[in-house]
Amino acid sequence: MAKKKYKDIVCRKWLSKETKNLVEKDGKKYYFCCPSCKEKFEKDPEKYIKLVG
Ligand SMILES: [Zn+2]
Repeated sequence: MAKKKYKDIVCRKWLSKETKNLVEKDGKKYYFCCPSCKEKFEKDPEKYIKLVG
């Protein structure tokens, strides 16, 4: 059974499930382990998106 995983691209931690720390940008959903990671992403989304490719 393929389980979808989510990666917190700010702290680079794998998340086993969706969290409520969610940001939607350009039709993509980004999940974060905690509100502070989410905040960092919102301040400078391009920086983190670039790192993931
Ligand atoms: Zn995080």
